[in-house]
Amino acid sequence: MIYEDKFSIEKFLRQFHKDEKEINIKKVIIAGPCSVESYEQMDKTAEFLKKVGVNILRGGAYKPRTCPTTFQGLEEEGIKILNKIRKKHNIPVITEIMDVETLDFVSENVDILQIGSRNMYNYSLLKAVGKTKKPVLLKRGMSATVNEWLKAAEYIVSGGNDNVILCERGIRTFETYTRNTLDLASVAIIKKESNFPIIVDPSHGTGIPYLIKPMSKAALASGADGIMIEVHHNPSEALSDGKQSLNFEDFQYLLSELSSFVNI
Ligand code: PEP
Ligand code: MN
Repeated sequence: MIYEDKFSIEKFLRQFHKDEKEINIKKVIIAGPCSVESYEQMDKTAEFLKKVGVNILRGGAYKPRTCPTTFQGLEEEGIKILNKIRKKHNIPVITEIMDVETLDFVSENVDILQIGSRNMYNYSLLKAVGKTKKPVLLKRGMSATVNEWLKAAEYIVSGGNDNVILCERGIRTFETYTRNTLDLASVAIIKKESNFPIIVDPSHGTGIPYLIKPMSKAALASGADGIMIEVHHNPSEALSDGKQSLNFEDFQYLLSELSSFVNI
């Protein structure tokens, strides 16, 4: 047993590999596009990611976009695509939940709920996911202190759901070179102050593809339980976050570099 956290990601993943006696997960890799764009996109992405050993497939269907005229996600259709893909490829899927109204529908169709940075302070949403039994990946608010983030996690736990995974995705600082400032000290703090598993998202944490490898290494060296990376089959055509997304080849190269680093 590698994880001794409140929520065991390994135990959770084991359900998807019932036929395999041993699953060797030292670090959890979550990958996939920022947004679900079509069935074909997710089908080819899942096939590739599964082949290279990714544990969890990501894809947003309800997208919290800064600009209201940009792509807002496929919404209900995107969730249905995720459900088909998880069954076809036998891979757990994670997607962002933006409001209480869609919670039942989304919960029935995916494996892990993501609370995005913009909703970390949405206490009614936190209470609502706290009443489900679904694992919840709680992203750090972009201007949240570690203590506020931990309190947000407590909202979910006190509703009766202690299947919480935290995700460091960078915070707003005066630095504008990177999209956010990836706070990796938070990883070690979370490990000291709580027993929640923690994942690091260097894609949103930096916004810059060449920083993903060094920040992934730093995250894992800091004690993170895994990483979440945006991957797109053709980043220049992606409907959201194409600039920070890795293509298949670069992602595979990243994994090979990481596996010699942490033996994933
Ligand atoms: C995402 O994961 O696509 C996303 C919108 O992330 P964040 O909430 O961290 O901005
Ligand atoms: Mn994104």
